[in-house]
Amino acid sequence: MKALVYRGPGLKALEDRPKPILQAPGDAIVKITKTTICGTDLHILKGDVPTCAPGRILGHEGVGIVDSVGAGVTGLKPGDHVLISCISSCGKCDYCRRGMYSHCRSGGWVLGHTIDGTQAEYVRIPHADTSLYRMPADVDEEALVLLSDILPTGFECGVLNGKIQPGMTVAIVGAGPIGMATLLTAQFFSPSRIIMIDLDDNRLEVARRFGASDTINSVRENAVEKVMALTDGIGADTVVEAVGIPATFELCQDLVAPGGTIANVGVHGHKADLHLEKLWSHNITITTRLVDTVTTPTLLKAVVSRKLDPSVLITHRFTLDRIIDAYDTFGRAAETKAMKVIISASAT
Ligand SMILES: [Zn+2]
Ligand SMILES: [Zn+2]
Repeated sequence: MKALVYRGPGLKALEDRPKPILQAPGDAIVKITKTTICGTDLHILKGDVPTCAPGRILGHEGVGIVDSVGAGVTGLKPGDHVLISCISSCGKCDYCRRGMYSHCRSGGWVLGHTIDGTQAEYVRIPHADTSLYRMPADVDEEALVLLSDILPTGFECGVLNGKIQPGMTVAIVGAGPIGMATLLTAQFFSPSRIIMIDLDDNRLEVARRFGASDTINSVRENAVEKVMALTDGIGADTVVEAVGIPATFELCQDLVAPGGTIANVGVHGHKADLHLEKLWSHNITITTRLVDTVTTPTLLKAVVSRKLDPSVLITHRFTLDRIIDAYDTFGRAAETKAMKVIISASAT
């Protein structure tokens, strides 16, 4: 089968690999129909994720059709159309019993990281019963690819951890796919303002279309002054960090209102300063989280009932044999205006 393989920092190749086989009774083999590329894959390719070894098939998002199941799988059968969660969870360990699937003792974020991933024709999914979701009928397959990772990540790490409530003010730093997923799902709670901050005018315009009340281009405008002007001088109740660099985390500290929350979503590769000399008395909360995907069933219902349409984030489509072009397009998002790229591995 064809698969996109990480070959060490800066190196990747589309290779022929053997079709995966069942290794444990709880495994399923899934024939991938659609997958996508995540910012996290770009982090791996930059060499920022040393736990991902060269030779690994990348990808932790996708939808497909169950090809075979191990003897211990009771809830799925060959032919079932499934959504693959980016987090594999056994459902039984202490962390899983607390709903912290991201820290599952024998799972967590393993796909396309410590085991082979979804940017291939087939993938082996461990703990299949608790890591795959049967797809509802009549739902756009492409839209559901975005429920593998970015929608639950924006919702859990940004919106829920950020404690967004009706009438509150929200600032989202970073209008990439995760920032946009946060913007879309924040609207479940009717905040009074959602201010998007980014460097890219195209992304800010897209954000306005998706429901941002205000946008700030932090190259041209002073983001702190403008947020203060929009919030009666106090700052935003919830500030979501959706970039993952020290400068944006520090900006969040200047934007948060007393009593507010900074919800970190970004993947950070470097240490960042925490200004306790200012914040010690501001009653703020800072949260961090790796997505647990506990809200996937809720988000599936929101898509079925058309309260949420993640497909608006899709800008480009490729077939698996052109995945190198897809990486190039996704990696040059400022020029190509790419948000999410869908890669078709096979027809349904
Ligand atoms: Zn991802
Ligand atoms: Zn577990």
